[in-house]
Amino acid sequence: MTDSTDIYSAARDGFRERYGREPLGLWSAPGRVNLIGEHTDYNDGFVFPFAIDRRTVVALAPREDGVIRVGSTFAADTEEMAVESLSPDRIAGWSAYPFGVAWALLQHGADASTATGFDAYFASDVPVGAGLSSSAAIESAVAVALNEVWGLEYNKRTLARAGQLAENQVVGAPTGIMDQSASLFGKQDAAVFLDCRSLDAEVIPLGFEGAGLEILIIDTKVSHSHADGGYKDRRASCEAGAAAMGVESLRDLDADDLPRAESVLDDVTFRRVRHIVTENQRVLDTVRTLREEGPRAIGGLLDASHVSMRDDFEISVPELDLAVATAQASGAVGARMTGGGFGGAAIALVPSELVADVSRAVSAAFADAGYAAPDQFTVRPSEGARAER
Ligand code: ADP
Ligand code: MG
Repeated sequence: MTDSTDIYSAARDGFRERYGREPLGLWSAPGRVNLIGEHTDYNDGFVFPFAIDRRTVVALAPREDGVIRVGSTFAADTEEMAVESLSPDRIAGWSAYPFGVAWALLQHGADASTATGFDAYFASDVPVGAGLSSSAAIESAVAVALNEVWGLEYNKRTLARAGQLAENQVVGAPTGIMDQSASLFGKQDAAVFLDCRSLDAEVIPLGFEGAGLEILIIDTKVSHSHADGGYKDRRASCEAGAAAMGVESLRDLDADDLPRAESVLDDVTFRRVRHIVTENQRVLDTVRTLREEGPRAIGGLLDASHVSMRDDFEISVPELDLAVATAQASGAVGARMTGGGFGGAAIALVPSELVADVSRAVSAAFADAGYAAPDQFTVRPSEGARAER
């Protein structure tokens, strides 16, 4: 991993070396962390992610011959494809992301006759597979670059949908639009309040900087083989719960509906439903609390979110529970697992002066429990995708 000043020269130098010319420009997009709102996206609900200070940079220049070439510090080879051959067929390997976004932008009405070929080279300091969405970072970097180079003038919402379309159709991952929205709409010291039904995105100041708060990521590095099955199973439970309750999606239920849900649904489905209903409310409460009371007051909502995922949605694992409990006991304002569950990372909202203490306590607790050492680092809510000049 390179530090954030290096990724710009790595992208530029890599481009020069690979293609023997200068890039037209550099564009970049960040990874993201979900502050609160888990598994609510596919229930038409609310999520509240922020863009982080880890980015993917693309150096890019158009070509006259209709050929696309992509290279990355991740890969020795350069992958090649003609613009006119772009298709939704699954493409194996990492080039599915850039080729997929190019294809997806064409699906949104970009004129194929003005869509030139291009050379692109990527460098990144977003950790891959740590739940920080390096995939949305590469997609959004390509989307903003081509938006400019192809003269598309699409808004961020359309660019986010293109990234999602690429990930769903070309990469083959059935993800929602949260990651791309966070990566595109992010602002410094702010999070993106996203309504997954209307796709309205609102940037909400977090005020972490003024309050002296930081987000500590605790990556347990646990990944469970049943994560995919667990995800599908939770989605199915949510769909079954909505159908049994006679609503289009669980977004249409609120706390007042829970007594009826308890009488209509079996215990497991009821608890899945209760997580979604209460989690949506916690996202709304987090946004309101930030506005009215400031960031130190949201800790209880983060803690409650974790309990709901552990006990009702049952997607936590002992490592995540230990990370959260230890962070809470050693000075965090609040903590929760983040991401799809069955492994991955927890986040803790921690006063700056206590970050080292919390981190040490978590490492010690993991060692005591006989767990592999977690990866820990802080992230700052940062600017979304942009052109770099
Ligand atoms: P994540 O949680 O990090 O998004 P994914 O599996 O969704 O994990 O996406 C990671 C994949 O995205 C990598 O395996 C790789 O194929 C691709 N990727 C991400 N960043 C880059 C990059 N800078 N260069 C090449 N491929 C990348
Ligand atoms: Mg991803």
